[in-house]
Amino acid sequence: MSAETPITQERRVVTEIPGPKSRELHARRTAVVPPGVHSVLPVYIDRAHDSVLVDVDGNQIVDVCGGIGVTTIGHTDDAVVAAAEAQLHKVTHTLFTMTPYEPYVRVAEYLAQHVPGSTPEQPYKTLLMNSGAEAVENGVKIARKYTGRPGVAVLDHAYHGRTMLTSSMNYKAAPYALGYGPRAGDITKAPNSYPLRDGLSGPEAAQRTIAYLEKVAGAEDLACLVVEPVQGEGGFIVPADGFLPAIADWCRENGIVFIADEVQAGMARTGTVFSIEQFGVEPDIVLSAKGIAGGLPLAGITGRAEIMDKSQPGGLGGTFGGNPVSCAAAVAVFEQIESQSLLAEAQRIERAFKPALEGLQAKYDRIVDVRGKGAMLAIEFADPETLEHDAALVSRVIARAAQEGVLLLSAGAFGNVIRFLPSLKMSDALIADVVSVIDAAIAAEI
Ligand SMILES: *Cc1c(COP(=O)(O)O)cnc(C)c1O
Repeated sequence: MSAETPITQERRVVTEIPGPKSRELHARRTAVVPPGVHSVLPVYIDRAHDSVLVDVDGNQIVDVCGGIGVTTIGHTDDAVVAAAEAQLHKVTHTLFTMTPYEPYVRVAEYLAQHVPGSTPEQPYKTLLMNSGAEAVENGVKIARKYTGRPGVAVLDHAYHGRTMLTSSMNYKAAPYALGYGPRAGDITKAPNSYPLRDGLSGPEAAQRTIAYLEKVAGAEDLACLVVEPVQGEGGFIVPADGFLPAIADWCRENGIVFIADEVQAGMARTGTVFSIEQFGVEPDIVLSAKGIAGGLPLAGITGRAEIMDKSQPGGLGGTFGGNPVSCAAAVAVFEQIESQSLLAEAQRIERAFKPALEGLQAKYDRIVDVRGKGAMLAIEFADPETLEHDAALVSRVIARAAQEGVLLLSAGAFGNVIRFLPSLKMSDALIADVVSVIDAAIAAEI
């Protein structure tokens, strides 16, 4: 624990935002960090706890992004800090592929226990890496090895990372892939289910996706279909009921590995450990990262043993993958999911936050959709008649909320969605405060 005064869970704006010290730091940063590494809000953070960031000028900013769904159990969570600190003093690195250690095994055990479909007859095994993109890369590698096929299928509006393979899998070329080509080959992008905009039922949308993939990719050439059960960067798009089970069935019938990319939606975020559970699908492989270790870098690839066991010794791994400190932090996250009923807390957040957002929708007709699950919620802005995306309004609302000390983030292929990824410990009172700031920002900017 730091010797500094505890951070109160409230908004407090004491300078303009960014303040003078942040602006000074930003000038230094601009000289030595390239603009490709862009910061949404160039406010420099000194410390943080639970839902509040304290910047170098002393402003207290309410964080409704959690570093994009990473600090799901809150910033500098006491149990995570204690577990990481204890592990730092024990062993910080050996390289698991040289000499192993227990925390890695405990993380693998927990993940295996919580994947829907895992039974003693059908066990799941886990490889640990450092980032979401590495999880996706390894999921694809493992699926190719198992099937002996090359093809990778993804859905429109998907986001899977910024490495060479994953940036080629994303829906948007800009900013992730533009100019960094040649892009990776054998990737087919198929229509997703987007109830607001396609008006299709789940089975109808699945039929469209399947027909497209059969025509354009050819089922027998596909190693895997990689799907975010709730799309993250794409705008928290929840597929229509029946879409995911139908495409998962089609994958099974055609020997295609169904990979659930739960990097953003997983780890208690939506009210279950993995969001795919809520869609009644048993994935062949599920990917975790972001919220798994309370802010430390860690990623998991958890798959059916039969698939995972196909890779030869030495074929999988990496120097830092499954770092012991990150694993110890992850175990502390898992323990809190259980001991503090964090799944129920995600449902509490939905109960407090969603009706308040629906209240805004009733007030402002440019909010055309309120959607999401648990503590993964979003509002989409568009022209109410034509549904033309209104990204400009989203930018203005986010900028105004920042001035008031609320950190918001956009999403969506057209930037017209505001997404909310609060800590599962954010109080109802703080949620109400955030909604009142958004309300005033929309009123001022519309
Ligand atoms: C963030 C994200 C990734 C990439 O994770 P990194 O840790 O940034 O590499 C992959 N998939 C999804 C769904 C994500 O949200």
